[in-house]
Amino acid sequence: MLCGSTKHRATPLVDFHIHSTFSPDAEDTIDAMCEAAVRSGLAEICFTDHVDFEPRDESHGYLRFEAYREAVEQAARKWEGTLEVRIGVEADYQTWYGGEVEEFLSGRRLDFVLGSVHWVDSLSTTGEIFDRYGLEEACRRYLENVFALARSGLYDSLAHLDFIKRYAFERYGKVPLGAFSDEIEAILRALIERGTALEINTSGLRHPVHETLPGVETLRLYRRLGGELITLGSDAHRVRDAGFAIPYAVDLARSLGFRHITVFRNRQPEFVTIE
Ligand SMILES: [Zn+2]
Ligand SMILES: [Zn+2]
Repeated sequence: MLCGSTKHRATPLVDFHIHSTFSPDAEDTIDAMCEAAVRSGLAEICFTDHVDFEPRDESHGYLRFEAYREAVEQAARKWEGTLEVRIGVEADYQTWYGGEVEEFLSGRRLDFVLGSVHWVDSLSTTGEIFDRYGLEEACRRYLENVFALARSGLYDSLAHLDFIKRYAFERYGKVPLGAFSDEIEAILRALIERGTALEINTSGLRHPVHETLPGVETLRLYRRLGGELITLGSDAHRVRDAGFAIPYAVDLARSLGFRHITVFRNRQPEFVTIE
């Protein structure tokens, strides 16, 4: 994977998880986010606005894809030479609409497709899932869905593997994912098998749980299992978070033995050396 025609570049500060006002939960325009990215010292960003198939999600049917593409292309031209701007989506996954995700992606020109689990059994992982199942069962069902996503092979990278811990921590003050190490290992193995990357999402560092998503132990395990494809994402929904803790994430990846950060162009991996 890391040889032959593969492109190697030396631009460490990349952020491949950024939202704009094309997502209903984001505050700032594409242009404002580009400006903030430049201010944060980023060399390359990828917009990953929400595509959701869960009818109860506020993002359902929200993304006007052609307008989005035009706006990102316009920004790419405007910032050429200063900031590389890519177009992607963050597409939510539940097994029952896997076919719709596939249909949405087929034939669409994108640089990058990030996969997320935000809903389980049509319950939001931010709260409803705990009301229905309680903490342990909620985590188990959440991870089952992440495993299905990892096995689907539909995505370029898995976003915030342990997203549920942010909300578990806020509600219960604890995160019982240690009890699910077998499930997490199975997810990592599925990613490696399918050639899907793993995101280090820095959003957890600005929330009470105060950890990257996934945490250090999971990243270490991924490396030990032979995982090499790491993408970085601030998950910024407003200008002040563009590039948030990306230098920290690069240092973390390096300290765990990763030699490259992966970026995507036309859904093909390229590698940014961090050795
Ligand atoms: Zn997400
Ligand atoms: Zn996101």
